[in-house]
Amino acid sequence: MRLLADLHTHTVASGHGYSTVTEVASAAAARGLELIAVTDHGPNVPGGAHLWYFWNMKVIPSVLNGVRILKGCEANPCLETENGIDLPDEMLSMLDFVAVGLHPQCGFDEGDRVKNTEALLRVIENPFVDMITHPGNEAEFPVDIDAAVAAAVRHGVILELNNYSFDPRSGRNVSVAREREFAETARDAGASIAVSSDAHYHLLVGEFSNALAVAEELAFPEERIVNRSAASVLEFLGQKRDRPRIDAGGVW
Ligand SMILES: [Zn+2]
Ligand SMILES: [Zn+2]
Repeated sequence: MRLLADLHTHTVASGHGYSTVTEVASAAAARGLELIAVTDHGPNVPGGAHLWYFWNMKVIPSVLNGVRILKGCEANPCLETENGIDLPDEMLSMLDFVAVGLHPQCGFDEGDRVKNTEALLRVIENPFVDMITHPGNEAEFPVDIDAAVAAAVRHGVILELNNYSFDPRSGRNVSVAREREFAETARDAGASIAVSSDAHYHLLVGEFSNALAVAEELAFPEERIVNRSAASVLEFLGQKRDRPRIDAGGVW
């Protein structure tokens, strides 16, 4: 199976990413990708992007090197804000693609399954949220798999099968069995997934081999892997809610 979109990439704006938007787009073009989402970390991650960074993504062209660029974020669940996320709804509604995931030093380090699940369910219920990143990160952030998957199906939220979680260099590599279990539960519950690189360096953009091998091994239905192509991504996102900026060709 060949996947032509990468819905999870980082730039220098994330604080621990090492490439620019231009480099990420060039690398995506070199890999033959049709679409990427630029999803830098939200403000709660140490060194993460400021709110202004997301507001100003309008200056980035919607197509670079022939690759469609979705202006997105990887925000964080947050107990201190009105919407339970570290970016306000007003901001999320503007973005082309909204990913949210649990990260270290963002208020969820106690390993409290009930607290994590409640926070994640609230995020999934937010109509602006499109994808939950690395949901199977059991070692750091245990969650109730069945509850999270059922909510994702109900609200049309993508569950990510994160390639980097299967990389020995990743801190999440100890949770590989759980990532697999999440994908298996998602398969059986009728959920949609995306196989993403989570690249923090441009040469890793479009690198799906570890996660894709798992999806293939699980015989995950191809039509429920959202990032097959630019068209399949845009169709999925368009069905979830109005995307005036996407409909306008990415012009903000
Ligand atoms: Zn992440
Ligand atoms: Zn990430």
